[in-house]
Amino acid sequence: MNKITVAIDGYSSSGKSTMARELARRVGFTYVDSGAMYRTVTLYAMEHGMTGPDGSVDVKALVAALPEINIRFSHPDPDDMTVQHTMLNGRDVEREIRTIEVSNYVSPVATIPEVREYLVDQQRSMGREGGIVMDGRDIGTTVFPDAELKVFVNASPEERARRRVRELQAKDENVSYDEVLANVRERDYIDTHREVSPLRRADDAILLDNDHMTPAEQMDWLLNEFHKAADGKN
Ligand code: C5P
Repeated sequence: MNKITVAIDGYSSSGKSTMARELARRVGFTYVDSGAMYRTVTLYAMEHGMTGPDGSVDVKALVAALPEINIRFSHPDPDDMTVQHTMLNGRDVEREIRTIEVSNYVSPVATIPEVREYLVDQQRSMGREGGIVMDGRDIGTTVFPDAELKVFVNASPEERARRRVRELQAKDENVSYDEVLANVRERDYIDTHREVSPLRRADDAILLDNDHMTPAEQMDWLLNEFHKAADGKN
């Protein structure tokens, strides 16, 4: 099997991270959740008074602070390298970056070109050797335009909001379906309309509409596509 690069993009809560992580685990590749990196920059901005109650972000201050934001992934389970905890300047922030407060600010932060440049550089260096599965919004279009396998995942906003509510409630976060659906729609809008690297399907990405598919069905489909791409590459 060749150490190819796999780019999995799609809308928020489309199930792409779960699929990407499981694929990496099965084939022994590195997994990177690029959304966690945007979430971590957002958490930093919130903790340093760079976000306002009206949803605004102090772009100048955040851009100036970027060199202070060190993002790493730690691997608490030595038997499963796809289990990752996101570290911000040495502190485990895995739980904090998943809250609805961070979700509400992350898309505006992700529109800032300097933030994208800062994170895309790091993502490219993580993938330099191949053998990587990365999920996000612009992986197939911008980060790895030459990836051997590109998948674009979609599901309806309602189905994605239902999944997200289940995830957040499992972590004891008190959220309503309406609040989550509004956040999903808002992020879809901002992510698809921003100027730099908007969320869109790369021309050569395979579309996976997973509204009516079980996780097992999606995995079978993805493994099949993976082997076509990896075994076909010389
Ligand atoms: O994947 P996740 O939903 O955790 O991503 C959070 C947000 O980070 C997205 O809504 C999007 O605004 C931003 N993002 C991005 N580019 C990526 C990954 C995430 O703009 N490659």
